[in-house]
Amino acid sequence: MTLSLGVSVALSRFLSKNEASKKLQKIKENNLNAVEFGLLNCIIGRANLPGMVPFPTEAQTNEIIEIMPPNEFYISVHGPYRVTTTSMDPKKLKFSKSNFFKSVKVADDLGAHHVTFHAGSFKKKHNNDHVQRVLKDWEEWRQNKPYKAKMAPEVGGKYNSFADFFTLVEIAGTIDNCLITWDISHDFARGGKITTEEGIIKRIDLLDQTFDLNSENRLPMHVSGMVVGKSGEQHHTLLDHGTGVPWKLVFSILKEQNFLDKVSIICESKVPKGEKKLKGNAITDIIRLREFLESDQIVKTYKGKPGHLDFYFG
Ligand SMILES: [Zn+2]
Repeated sequence: MTLSLGVSVALSRFLSKNEASKKLQKIKENNLNAVEFGLLNCIIGRANLPGMVPFPTEAQTNEIIEIMPPNEFYISVHGPYRVTTTSMDPKKLKFSKSNFFKSVKVADDLGAHHVTFHAGSFKKKHNNDHVQRVLKDWEEWRQNKPYKAKMAPEVGGKYNSFADFFTLVEIAGTIDNCLITWDISHDFARGGKITTEEGIIKRIDLLDQTFDLNSENRLPMHVSGMVVGKSGEQHHTLLDHGTGVPWKLVFSILKEQNFLDKVSIICESKVPKGEKKLKGNAITDIIRLREFLESDQIVKTYKGKPGHLDFYFG
């Protein structure tokens, strides 16, 4: 069994060589073997908007792969927040598409396996057919180029974010090469029943039926602590803080089901703003997870209180 474990690093044209090198060295020093480059605030053309930054250059991505060769690290990219597949506005969709395409190009330059991205939000109800059409169009473009990095839309953390685990697997399963990113903290935050062994096994079985997963084509996973409110995710925090993400239970079941060499796990934990007493970060949390996975410990019950959600589903 080879574990694939890592953290994310924010990347944009403004990441200096020195800063990039410090961050990447830290990942190597801690013997982690996965990295997700976050293009979260990157945007094409309108980088003068507040908080928005330009995409990294090819020279920057070349410097990165000198430090993190793609054959030694499981590399992925997280697309910008501005990417959406749910919008019905043709202008917004076009803009979203350009930003997504640029992210795939950066991913290919980095030798990344996939691009994780948030599929968007919805107002009244899921419009599955619309999202499926958009993703099919993007996949066709990707194949025609051809680019290697696969699409991996992420399970959303808020009730009105597209989409829950089962909807996303259903849609991705109809599109060539398309994976999903299973963020277990999001799944939990929006009311997914990953607080029971049954709920977790149901998901693993569905993933196995839908995707061709192996140590080279791993399912992207995210984990972090999470503060949950009535409508789902509020914000990230450290593992074991916030609203009781059942990470020990989920990873115990994955271990028992021999599923760990089919996933790549990125930790997105962070200390929320203003919480000065909390100590730790994504690296200390992924090391905790690694220690847990390498121990004999198996947790089969969920003892946390799953917050104040109004509902639960499968
Ligand atoms: Zn995530």
